[in-house]
Amino acid sequence: MHECLVNSISFRVEGAEVIRRVESIGRSSVEEATVRKLVEHAQKIARPMAFYRIGCIEGRGPGWVEIHGVRLESRRLAEYTSEVNRVFLYIATCGSRLEDWSRMLSGDEEVAIAEVIKEMALEQVRKAMYRHMSETWHVDISDAEEIHPGDKHGWSVTHMPVLFHLLGDTQARVGVSLTSRFELLPKRSAVGVIIPSGCNAITCNYCPNEECQNRKAPCREEELRKTYNLAGV
Ligand code: SF4
Repeated sequence: MHECLVNSISFRVEGAEVIRRVESIGRSSVEEATVRKLVEHAQKIARPMAFYRIGCIEGRGPGWVEIHGVRLESRRLAEYTSEVNRVFLYIATCGSRLEDWSRMLSGDEEVAIAEVIKEMALEQVRKAMYRHMSETWHVDISDAEEIHPGDKHGWSVTHMPVLFHLLGDTQARVGVSLTSRFELLPKRSAVGVIIPSGCNAITCNYCPNEECQNRKAPCREEELRKTYNLAGV
């Protein structure tokens, strides 16, 4: 399965935005000096990262799709992929460094600030991952659909292990594990499936799905290898 690691983002946080977010969740006032100190430290140690794999759809039926021999049961996923045979399976996280650091903090204010910083780290790495997908595989992520086990689209959280199985050793790659209660550790992590809409000759040029019956142009594997030096291509 073709896969990419996104782990070299430059993590930058505005103190004013941290204060705005902390206050929006109920704290009446936040010490600027405390925010500055925590932000400075967090920026030094943070290593948010994301990992994604291209999933080629090999079969489908009412309410399910099969990706690399694994059946994913989700009506929404089946609906969104009715006209595409390629999806992106991903996991993104604020990173274990920020998680370990935040666990050592005490005091409600510091903990609330650290939670916001971790949330922003996750947001930034997800944006970097979307950019990486668009630039590497020439897909339009701006109008892509995205679903997660446990979200409101009726894909049960109990399907989380299936997605983890398809993603491989997520602990080794990005330091994220799944508990027996279907919680992600670190908590500020996200796992899901991204489904870019529409296929055309250009997307086909950069799509590795060899079995796709709808292919409109050949895959430029050589070009991909040279340009991006991607694992698995
Ligand atoms: S080969 Fe082309 S038509 Fe098939 S899934 Fe890939 S981009 Fe879409």
